Amino acid sequence: MADSKELCRTPGQEPFHRDGAKYVCSVCGQKYFTQDDVKNCFESHPEKEEATMV
Ligand SMILES: [Zn+2]
Repeated sequence: MADSKELCRTPGQEPFHRDGAKYVCSVCGQKYFTQDDVKNCFESHPEKEEATMV
């Protein structure tokens, strides 16, 4: 079974959500203590292109 789960953000996606006192990257699920860190992580992920291949 091919698991080709890519970690990409989508336009308009919220960059993070809160988990108690932490910030969770909405793309990879990594937890951070500061908003700057979680935003850096979010922006390090490639943006997903629309499925209009060919
Ligand atoms: Zn991330």
